[in-house]
Amino acid sequence: IPVEDFDLVIFGGTGDLARRKILPGLYRRFCSGQMPETARIIGAARSEHDTAEFRQIVRDAIREFSKKNECDDALIGTFLERLHYVQVDAKGEDGWGDLRDLMRKDVVKAYYFSVAPSLFGDLAERLQAHGIADEDARIVVEKPFGRDLASAKKLNQDLAKHFDETQIYRIDHYLGKETVQNLMAVRFGNILFEPLWNSQYVDHIQITVAETVGVGGRGEYYDKSGAMRDMVQNHLMQLLCLIAMEPPSRFDPDAVRDEKLKVIRALEPIDHHHIVRGQYDATETEPSYREDAGDPRSRTESFIALRCMISNWRWAGTPFYLRTGKKLKARASEIAVVFKDAPHSIFGEEAGRHANVLSIRLQPNEGMTLKVTIKEPGPGGMRLIDVPLDMSFADALGEEADDIPDAYERLIMDVIRGNQTLFMRGDEVQAAWAWTDPLIESWEARSDVPKLYDAYSSGPEDAAMMLHREGRRWREIK
Ligand code: NAD
Repeated sequence: IPVEDFDLVIFGGTGDLARRKILPGLYRRFCSGQMPETARIIGAARSEHDTAEFRQIVRDAIREFSKKNECDDALIGTFLERLHYVQVDAKGEDGWGDLRDLMRKDVVKAYYFSVAPSLFGDLAERLQAHGIADEDARIVVEKPFGRDLASAKKLNQDLAKHFDETQIYRIDHYLGKETVQNLMAVRFGNILFEPLWNSQYVDHIQITVAETVGVGGRGEYYDKSGAMRDMVQNHLMQLLCLIAMEPPSRFDPDAVRDEKLKVIRALEPIDHHHIVRGQYDATETEPSYREDAGDPRSRTESFIALRCMISNWRWAGTPFYLRTGKKLKARASEIAVVFKDAPHSIFGEEAGRHANVLSIRLQPNEGMTLKVTIKEPGPGGMRLIDVPLDMSFADALGEEADDIPDAYERLIMDVIRGNQTLFMRGDEVQAAWAWTDPLIESWEARSDVPKLYDAYSSGPEDAAMMLHREGRRWREIK
């Protein structure tokens, strides 16, 4: 179903994110027929280009970053006709009049701030000062949204001077993933799971976001943030909220976000026995984290594992183990709900322990698996084995799985539709920083040095020990 007609301005339209994700994503939506014929995309950036050059940049980006079978020259050509370019300086007055003249009235207007966060306030101010954004206009802002509570508050205030909260779309692309939304469908659309979704039946929950890449060329930039700020404060905490929140009364933006906020506010502070920070070591051919970061004494973590506890009736006593890192053994993101063992085994000791596990894979191969226990087939008596009830989207949906939009595509279409459900609200972001700030301060105050881990391993041994002490183990990263 096509969305309403729109003018989408991408500030930073020539940058890396725009070329890799936003523009190829819009092209896919165009191909699927979701973008109306008359919709327009306006690249706006400081670099000197005209519309023809910008179209060439986008043509190259689509060829480079889209799947080969999606690149049809004629279709790309028609898509490019919807593109325009304006040279605009976020920090000066150049170009703003041209942008205003280009914008149409009576269509949805959205402004994607795909630029450094230090420019968000300038862009918001100039959009208003030049009378470009109307009351219904939307702005989309990228991560990082601050580096601590103080800077996030300042960003929120800068935006709030010019835009209402209902106009601000803070992107966390994890929320745009098909499986993440499916998590809500599974939880709240089936009667099967929700009665078991609490500390009485759930032993613990693991959330893993593992990457195989190191920080490479972005080392110096990354070194100012680290895994906690770069991944946990936003992506992992968003996943934690969705898995732990109470059922909202409706699937509407504020009902969902109110429930997520309650989870963040119920998080207990963590002491340092339940935090493990790591840095990847060098291999024979590849540099260590510290070499990548260009600082031989860097204390920034490229890996972190935490045990979080949520102080409320539903979750008291159930640990949530979070871990994320660079240069780990596989690229894999997963949420695993590990249920308790059956209270009594009628099959005796030799049948072993068999816990049900619901695993929700975000990448690769988005899908869900429920591990259930059955009798081992054959005449060997009552022996139990665990088998997966597998719902890989690619298998279950066949060709339709190819049409599952990528996270960015979906989120941009949600902006045009005016649906904020999958975007972070300002108070949510601040609450998340309010929880992470004291943890970061505490390890900085102790001058904590991250543990070294082998590149392409599962992370530091201490992370395994943290669970081992509690009689649990991490799921394999694969
Ligand atoms: P980039 O450096 O590749 O591109 C920056 C863009 O901003 C360019 O188009 C440049 O012309 C424009 N620009 C710079 N100064 C300007 C000014 N004064 N006025 C107008 N335009 C100006 O950056 P990027 O990697 O595309 O990142 C953009 C934003 O997205 C950043 O906030 C970044 O943190 C965030 N982000 C990027 C990625 C990614 O994969 N690249 C992922 C998540 C979030």
